[in-house]
Amino acid sequence: MKILVPVKRVVDYNVKVRVKADGTGVDIANVKMSMNPFDEIAIEEAVRLKEKGAATEVIAVSCGVSQCQETLRTALAIGADRAIHVETDAELQPLAVAKLLAALVAKEQPGLVILGKQAIDDDANQTGQMLAALSGLPQATFASKVEVAGDRVEVTREIDGGLEVLSMGLPAIVTTDLRLNEPRYVTLPNIMKAKKKPLENVKPADLGVDVAPRLKTLKVAEPAGRKAGIKVADVAALVDKLKNEAKVI
Ligand code: AMP
Repeated sequence: MKILVPVKRVVDYNVKVRVKADGTGVDIANVKMSMNPFDEIAIEEAVRLKEKGAATEVIAVSCGVSQCQETLRTALAIGADRAIHVETDAELQPLAVAKLLAALVAKEQPGLVILGKQAIDDDANQTGQMLAALSGLPQATFASKVEVAGDRVEVTREIDGGLEVLSMGLPAIVTTDLRLNEPRYVTLPNIMKAKKKPLENVKPADLGVDVAPRLKTLKVAEPAGRKAGIKVADVAALVDKLKNEAKVI
């Protein structure tokens, strides 16, 4: 069984993002970029399934600018066998990515596609769900445990009231939640090995997909700044302020 893992190149989670002066988006010039953390979890899970003998090949795929190849090399260093770069400079929205992935699902016929539950840059939480709909496959989102048995996969999800366990026939789409696993550290020998693994380059047109954006971003703005706090002398003064100034009690 093949496992396809889409990995997105995003602003590193440690970076404090800055909004561009003209309000058209976030400034990514000279900013550290990394693999979306949920996608690292997805690659780790796919590699673990291969190590357990439940899968035979792990294919990482990234859609976007040429630097996505660095993200793919990281996926290969974690343990993916080969990578596909769908190269485009166009702004990619979740529907366009889902269409590209659906075309790759049709071509590669994976038994499982494991995506991140959301990309930490756009927080869309849409691509996996759209891919499931476009490919006509069952989906289990926000997985905290994934077990493959025969031609079925069992996915545990953390929900408000406890745990929900879903069983789906393969092929299927799974999206990862934070507690699914802890991705391994990438070692230097594996980084060196990853350089030799196959990385295929395709263009959206090769997959017959029009990636033109369907949504228009009107404005991106920083959250309103918080006012400085004050110190109060005692509890009585605090209660007085909460009652008469903030009017919250
Ligand atoms: P989103 O729907 O944008 O929050 O993204 C959810 C998941 O879809 C991500 O965690 C990735 O697994 C996948 N994904 C989104 N955009 C891309 C992309 N440009 N290339 C590869 N995978 C992507």
